[in-house]
Parts: sequence; C-alpha cells; structure tokens
Amino acid sequence: MPIRRELRSLYPAHWADLSRRVRFERAGGVCQGCGRPHGLALRCLPDGRWFDPAQRTWRDGRGRIDRWPDLEQAARMRMTRVVLAAAHLDHDPTNNRLRNLRCLCQRCHMLHDRPHHLAQRRITYLLRRARGDLFLGPYRIGVPAAPLVTTEKIAGDLPGRVSTV
Ligand SMILES: [Zn+2]
Repeated sequence: MPIRRELRSLYPAHWADLSRRVRFERAGGVCQGCGRPHGLALRCLPDGRWFDPAQRTWRDGRGRIDRWPDLEQAARMRMTRVVLAAAHLDHDPTNNRLRNLRCLCQRCHMLHDRPHHLAQRRITYLLRRARGDLFLGPYRIGVPAAPLVTTEKIAGDLPGRVSTV
C-alpha cells in the first residue's frame, strides 16, 4: 500500500530497507496474519479463505487448513495478487521498533487498520460538519453541493404565478 503524501515525512529515511527486512528476512515473505506468500496470484473467497498452491489445500483467514468451498462459494472466488507490507501495530508511523512492525498482506493490513480507519472517518466527518456550522455552509460529503435554489426561483416556477424577479 503506498504511503499517503501527507504521512511520508513521518517515516524514517531508511523505511524501504526496514520494510524489506521485516517482510522478507524476518517473516520469510509470507503474511504473519494468514500465511499468504508475497507476489503470487491466489484464489480467494470473500470469507478470507485462500487456496495454498504449495500444499494444494484451502486455508482460512489465519492460515489454518480449512474446508474446500462448495459450488455456490466457488462461484464467488476471485484471483488476488498478494502484496506484503510492513504494518505498524500501534498505527504510529514514527514508532519503527521491530516489535511494532509486522508483515501483513493487503487483506490482513486492512482488517488490522479498520478500527483506526473508522475513527479517522468519524473525525473527518465531524470536522466537515463543524466547518459547515462555522461558515454556514452545506454539509458536503464527497460530492459538490447543488446550487442553491432561492424562493424567488421556486415562486417563478409554480404554475399560475408571476415571477417578481
Ligand atoms: Zn494476510
């Protein structure tokens, strides 16, 4: 996962080397959450199961051997290329001690960061709302606000009325 521009300054200069050490030297190129190997395109199910081509078996979201999918589940199977990343366990990019870093695939990384992302989303929502209160603006969420319709315009559109504007 690429690092967001506004967070880049929080990462150390040797982050690329540190990340490589965590992912490939310490973790051996597999996710420490589910065991998926880096760089392979794997068959995955929405519930987190994935097909381990080395052992020719299905594994669950924690890397344990699991049941094979039935026909209905297999219809929702998709191919996913695994990309490992070094994740901060405490979500603090300035805390780069090795015990705070874990090698995770994109699925495990998203699951790990989910509570943090939800909290950030709520903060963003509240800030947007506060700005709307301060400046009497509309509460916009991702889409541009519609142009304001004045009462004169509405009165002019009604049948049988003559616009005064
Ligand atoms: Zn994983």
